[in-house]
Amino acid sequence: MQAFVYNALPARVVFGHGTLAALPAEAERLGLENILVLSTPEQEGQAASVADRLGGRAAAVFAGAAMHTPVEVTDEAMAMVADNAVDGTVAIGGGSTIGLGKAIALRTELPQIAVPTTYAGSEMTPIIGQTAQGEKTTQRSLRVLPETVIYDVELTLSLPVALSSTSGINAMAHAVEALYAEDRNPIVALMAEEGIRSLATALPRIKADAADTEARADALYSAWLCGTCLGSVGMALHHKLCHTLGGSFDLPHAQTHTIVLPHAVAYNANAAAEAMTAIARALGAGSAAQGLYDLAQALEAPLALKDLGMPEDGIDRAAELAVQNLYWNPRKLEHKAIRELIAQAWAGARPAS
Ligand code: NAD
Repeated sequence: MQAFVYNALPARVVFGHGTLAALPAEAERLGLENILVLSTPEQEGQAASVADRLGGRAAAVFAGAAMHTPVEVTDEAMAMVADNAVDGTVAIGGGSTIGLGKAIALRTELPQIAVPTTYAGSEMTPIIGQTAQGEKTTQRSLRVLPETVIYDVELTLSLPVALSSTSGINAMAHAVEALYAEDRNPIVALMAEEGIRSLATALPRIKADAADTEARADALYSAWLCGTCLGSVGMALHHKLCHTLGGSFDLPHAQTHTIVLPHAVAYNANAAAEAMTAIARALGAGSAAQGLYDLAQALEAPLALKDLGMPEDGIDRAAELAVQNLYWNPRKLEHKAIRELIAQAWAGARPAS
């Protein structure tokens, strides 16, 4: 076995069915008495019921979380933090809401309890992306890692099937890139392969029956594993491309990941043979890239960036941006091949073998 470095991140995870019931005890454990509950406008009702559950420990609800953590939204939430002498946050929702909790923690070091309701995995990472004046920047800091994560399978039952599929593939993308990360290691590889395997079987079951609680539990458990992969090792071309495409053309996060992943994997296939074998094995497919495309197709997930509203003349711009800042990738960043990759993803074509 090759020598490796493994960085474990501190996290307390409460996982199961109905685990939201543990929220007051978890808040007490952290000594929180004046909590700001965070959500998107769409999940305000859930945030209100979380506040009810917290009783006297809830100071207020802020239901203004938005995709890509705009700093203006964080400023608004910060005013509530100050006005209510808030001593901690509870974020109930997907990556957007958890991102807001992280942005507050970055400025204040307030403790966070994250209650994820999608499979994006942000709750397990020390990564925060923020948008100011239309530009998204990402940084890593342990200050933003939530102290406690409550995974309650029941809260994911309302996640629409289409978003469950794309959010699940978004989670898979973390595990896929962890397998060929520059700082990959056998511990993360275990989590990555199991995460992909379990999601690949759970997502079709969720599509068949959104209320299948065992499939929902498998998906959420896998999302935790995949989020841990994202938090533990560096990502590569796929994440860079999705970041660029999402930021430049205002494309939805999970759907963009779903479309780009098979193409990014095809691009890297020859440069990361061991990872490809593990991904294909986990998918039960002959090829990693084809298996990912087949899965997205079987889930009736979007396959083409043009269907998300990306203009065709954006292909060149995205290719330029993707090679602008050098970052690690198993295969050298080749402008022409990356342009072709983006063009294939734009059209929704099957990835190159
Ligand atoms: P999201 O949080 O934007 O949620 C999408 C929509 O689904 C929202 O309207 C939300 O309220 C709704 N929703 C969420 N859970 C629901 C449920 N169970 N039932 C019904 N509706 C529900 O989407 P996302 O894909 O989870 O997160 C995307 C954001 O997270 C992006 O900004 C991305 O950059 C960020 N992200 C960050 C990290 C990180 O480590 N920093 C990791 C992954 C994603």
